[in-house]
This record gives sequence, C-alpha cells and structure tokens, in this order.
Amino acid sequence: MPENISRTADNISIADAAQLLREGRLVAFPTETVYGLGADASNVEAVKGIFRAKGRPADHPLIVHIPESAKLSDWAENIPEVAYILAEHFWPGPLAMILPKKTTVPLEVTGGQNTVALRIPNHPIALKLLQAFGGGIAAPSANRYCRISPTTAQHVLEELGNAVDLILDGGACSVGVESTIIDLTSSPPRLLRPGHISYQELEAVLQSPVAVPEILSGTPSIDPGSPRAPGMMALHYAPETKTWLCSSETIGIIAKQLQLSNQHLGLLRYRTLIPDSPNITQLTLPEQPDTYAQGLYAALRQLDELQLDILLIERPPLIEAWRAVNDRLNKAATLIE
Ligand code: AMP
Ligand code: MG
Repeated sequence: MPENISRTADNISIADAAQLLREGRLVAFPTETVYGLGADASNVEAVKGIFRAKGRPADHPLIVHIPESAKLSDWAENIPEVAYILAEHFWPGPLAMILPKKTTVPLEVTGGQNTVALRIPNHPIALKLLQAFGGGIAAPSANRYCRISPTTAQHVLEELGNAVDLILDGGACSVGVESTIIDLTSSPPRLLRPGHISYQELEAVLQSPVAVPEILSGTPSIDPGSPRAPGMMALHYAPETKTWLCSSETIGIIAKQLQLSNQHLGLLRYRTLIPDSPNITQLTLPEQPDTYAQGLYAALRQLDELQLDILLIERPPLIEAWRAVNDRLNKAATLIE
C-alpha cells in the first residue's frame, strides 16, 4: 500500500490529517460528490500548493468547505436570508453557494474574485476532518487540471501520486459528480453548475425562480471522421482517448463504421444493445440518472486506461433529470450527429 493512503480513516488518521492541514500540507479526502484535494483555506501558501499539484490556472476559484453553517459568516458577508434557508435544507450536502467574500478571505482562494464558494459536504470522513480541523478547507476535485474527477482513493493516487501528503480513503463516492453550484449574488439566483440537487428542488425551497441555462447540447461535429478540434468546445472532464458522444440511434452505425476501419473501440452504453466483437470493449451504466452519475467517472477512467483508438458514449435523454450527467458528458466528449 502506498505510504500516503490511509485506508482506515479512523480517529487517529483524522487527527493526523487535521494536523497536516494546520502545517500547510495537502490532504485528499472523500466527499459524497468526488474526492477533494484539501488545504487550509486561510493559508495562502497551502492554497497555492493545490494549484501546483493540480496544474490548475490561478484564476480558477476553489470551493471552501466549512464544518457548520454558523461559520458562513467567517467567509462571507452581506449574507442573504436565502443562504441560511438553503443551508438548512441541503447541508450537509452536494450544494455549493456563491456569496460575497469577506475581505479576510485570500484572493488566491477565490481566483481573484470578490465572491466565495462555500459548502458543507455530506460524508462522515469529510465532516470529521472539518470538525477536527475547525477552519475552512479549500478543496477542488483531486485530479490534475481538465482530467476526470476521482471517485475513489485509488483514482486520487493515480492522478496526484506523491503531490498529495495524505489520502483519506472513504470508498467510492455516492453521488459521483461535482456539487450543484448556485450563485446567490445575482438576482434571481443563478444555477452555475448542475449536480445531484436539481434547480427545481432549489426553487421549491426558495419558493422563487432560479435562472438556469438551457440544457447544453454541445457543438456538433459535422463529419464523424474528423479529428477532435482542440478548443472547439469546453472539454474539461475529459478522457485522454478521443471521445465521441452519439445518440442511441446512431451509435450502432458509427461503431460499425469504425470497426470496418479496424479501430479498437470503447463503448459506454446504457440502453442500446451493441453486438459484441473482439474490437469492442463495452461497459454498461444504469438507466437511472443518479446511479449512472455514480458510476460515470470510474467507467470513463476504466475505458481510458485501455488506450483504445476511440471511445463512444451513448448520449442520455436531453431532459432535466439528466442535466448534470449531460453537462459532464458535453465536457468529456465531442458530440457527433
Ligand atoms: P471543483 O472544485 O474542481 O469542482 O471546481 C470548483 C468550481 O466552483 C469551479 O467550477 C468554479 O468555477 C466554481 N466556483 C468556485 N468559486 C466560485 C466563485 N466565487 N464564483 C463562481 N464560481 C466559483
Ligand atoms: Mg474539478
């Protein structure tokens, strides 16, 4: 077992982890969404370490994790009442809120912005760590920049290796995609990133509208034979293998065409049956959005590691229940229509 993975995450390793954070070191820990790469959010040097380990540009803000909503006022100011209402309903849970930052919050944490993202994660290890540490833990997903977020401790190790001082192992994440982010500094509040908590759930609690972008459909590439054009769309949670997103209607045809040109394919399906063949490695995810999301990143990693020529993903329906999954797939793959 590599030295920096703690598989027990008992009280002793939690105390050790909190001590490492106090010393300005990096601790990866499980949350219900994905694994986070944590550092003391009030220690600028420690926070810079997160950006170094990930290779993340300095203007990409981090989410600060806090142990209880009473600490909201340590990080944010002019906090609207709705923040407390949402905290009461959804925390601990997969919701991050954007609020005006207190002047004491380092700009390194917020990517130079005057707002800060805050969340209480719902995972026993994350909560114990936050309570033992006492302060805020800045933690983006524990992967290298633009790569697939980790949903197990092993993924973190593969991504970051010795760049992280300790990895607390809490098993596989139950949600599997990053938190829902709501911006409470705009009126009406805006959904910045879809996640397990839907905007309708937020609206129901707020009893007022939330501004939501149309469901993204991605930028279609006209010719399935063309290479992925860099910068054509925001590839963010992407496998290293060329990855295409195809409709249920066309995925079989595209798979057949590619096989004819002797390509080795990885296929991520959920509904459509594709005939097995020696040139195809298939994985199946569940037909329900929540359980699909839970398994998505591990499946993408598994296929990516096989170093195939191309990965095809069967695109789920473009309906609200699949918003978070579709958002991640649009960032992982090029849409082929
Ligand atoms: P990650 O922790 O890797 O999931 O990334 C954090 C996400 O939170 C990024 O998508 C950021 O754009 C978003 N975020 C964090 N702080 C802010 C902020 N102050 N304003 C807007 N977005 C934020
Ligand atoms: Mg991330």
